[in-house]
Amino acid sequence: MTDITLAPIQPDQPSHLMATYGRQAISFVRGRGAYLYTEDGTEYLDALTGIAVCGLGHAHPVIAEAIAEQAATLVHTSNLFEIPWQTAAAQKLAEVSGMEEIFFSNSGAESNEGAIKIARKFGTQQGVRLPKIIVAEQSFHGRTLATLSATGNKKVQDGFAPLVNDFIRVPFGDVEAIQEAALQHPDIVAILIEPIQGEGGINTAPQGFSYLEEVRNICNQHNWLMMLDEIQTGNGRTGKYFAYQHTNIVPDVLTTAKGLGNGFPVGAVMTQGKAVGLLGPGSHGSTYGGTVLGSRVVYTVIDTIQKENAVENAAVIGRYIVDQLRAKLADKNVQVRGFGMMIGIQLPKDCAELVAIARDQHKLIINVTAGSVVRLLPPINMTQAQADDLLERLVALINSYL
Ligand SMILES: *Cc1c(COP(=O)(O)O)cnc(C)c1O
Repeated sequence: MTDITLAPIQPDQPSHLMATYGRQAISFVRGRGAYLYTEDGTEYLDALTGIAVCGLGHAHPVIAEAIAEQAATLVHTSNLFEIPWQTAAAQKLAEVSGMEEIFFSNSGAESNEGAIKIARKFGTQQGVRLPKIIVAEQSFHGRTLATLSATGNKKVQDGFAPLVNDFIRVPFGDVEAIQEAALQHPDIVAILIEPIQGEGGINTAPQGFSYLEEVRNICNQHNWLMMLDEIQTGNGRTGKYFAYQHTNIVPDVLTTAKGLGNGFPVGAVMTQGKAVGLLGPGSHGSTYGGTVLGSRVVYTVIDTIQKENAVENAAVIGRYIVDQLRAKLADKNVQVRGFGMMIGIQLPKDCAELVAIARDQHKLIINVTAGSVVRLLPPINMTQAQADDLLERLVALINSYL
């Protein structure tokens, strides 16, 4: 243990941090499972988990031990060498996803960059000179130049022109718009969508997951790659290991991150079928991608999700939370939607201020997205008692607000 103690942050103290986030004036020093603690010991119920990241909860003892042991043994060598933990992590991820090939990255955006490169390589090999990718309105794919260009949110793109302009945007869930785009653009090679739009407000397509099956059919018909961004929906979040497993289809390209490392920065882009083998030696890489430490974390996270039956738990407890919210808020003008532990409560008005009210008055950490959607992303291994604790705080919060 170090003997360095940080002074508490003073509100008017100048900071050297770039002001890219509007931060809440609170910091947590410790976490355990579904709870976070401030320096003075105040306990908060965490229904955000670092934005769908700490799916197994904070300071999970098995993950903490794996990190500590590996950190004290070997953190990083290089992808120039064999990395047995990386091979083992890929084996695990292939097992839970049904995908064939895996490339490890360090974040969600970087995983989507990999997917976009795979789509371009695929197109180039088909003789398409300027390959295009279909993306959806209200989507979120990241903050790098290619991924912010793919993102369906003007605020994310504002001021960063010129954008990568080979994306064709369609309304989420609109199959006819995809067919229309196919007629207009013979150079489309892939489609990239989220099974449930997270940042966009916990939106499933109007026709539900059958949209994914329809998209799969269109991709087969036109020989496009079907690419799913499961950076937020993956790793048990929706009550299946990946959200597309609510259907019978398999995508050609799959990206994930967030819950894959339970807080350790990792991501992955995966391929199967006709997307396999497109990226060969020299075509892609990452110094930190799949380090010994990162790979051991991935292996341990997936192994722990399996051993705790956390995916099944997310389905059962998530269903319970949604049912209870619908019953307890039946007299309010709200719509509750979501799958597993990815839940949105659509309020009839903008409600950004609920974040502070929840935190200060109910000791509850939530997030508001798309202006008027209370977003809940609790740990996927949450217990029934913790779910009841969450419901009590949440219902009190919304009753006092509407
Ligand atoms: C968070 C997220 C990203 C970006 O991931 P980063 O790790 O922040 O780069 C991309 N797509 C979706 C669906 C996300 O939720």
